[in-house]
Amino acid sequence: MKEHYLAIIKFPMLVSVSLFLIAALYFGMALASYHNLGLSAWGTILYTVIFIVLVLLVSSWILILMSTHQKIKPRGMKIYSSWMLVNIYFYLAKWLGKLLLQNKLILQESFLHFNNEIVLSNSVGVHSQNILLLLPHCLQKSDCRIRITNNVVECEACGACDMAKMKDIQLRYNVKAAVATGGSLARKLIVDTNPDVIIAVACHRDLTDGVRDSWRYPVYAVLNERPKGPCFETTVSASTIEFAIKKFI
Ligand code: SF4
Repeated sequence: MKEHYLAIIKFPMLVSVSLFLIAALYFGMALASYHNLGLSAWGTILYTVIFIVLVLLVSSWILILMSTHQKIKPRGMKIYSSWMLVNIYFYLAKWLGKLLLQNKLILQESFLHFNNEIVLSNSVGVHSQNILLLLPHCLQKSDCRIRITNNVVECEACGACDMAKMKDIQLRYNVKAAVATGGSLARKLIVDTNPDVIIAVACHRDLTDGVRDSWRYPVYAVLNERPKGPCFETTVSASTIEFAIKKFI
């Protein structure tokens, strides 16, 4: 329970604390310079530029926090906030997390959780055919006689692995579902299908990289379970995927 709570708040907490520290440092330095020598013309310009950047950083972060509960309508604003999230705030949280010796996996999970909240608020009323369910090939049983290279419908649904549940979800909700054997194929599948929203299943690292790589697309991340170790006969919660599909359509 405690870990789940941490997974939710850690990322936004670290970003907020980073911004607070940067602001405190800025005002401390500006005040010290002013009291010691007064500010030269160049000093004034420099501090003004930094102040504007700081205001932009804080206001963009407030916008992103609001987007976890409210849909951002202007497309340009949506693209801007996604870019800021994966290219600026992600690194702020990562650096402060490193400094505070935070667990990398919990931080990644928190980032994914936070991003999921944004995707859930901003991707509603989507046509089911425009939802892409992206699955890792390690979900398939290793000795299955069929090699699912792309289309989940190839699975014969014997029930020996979770691929059968994924096929069932694809057919029941009429979403697109595909298996990606690597990052490049995943990117190609996304470009080819150009979905309105992606539900991606993978491990912490692959999902974090995937969400950041595909920042122009809303990616709802579902962590797989690895009872037999990484990348081997993994499992996934079908109810979590169904929950997301129901929210989107
Ligand atoms: S459920 Fe599908 S993919 Fe899994 S072992 Fe059976 S036929 Fe193969």
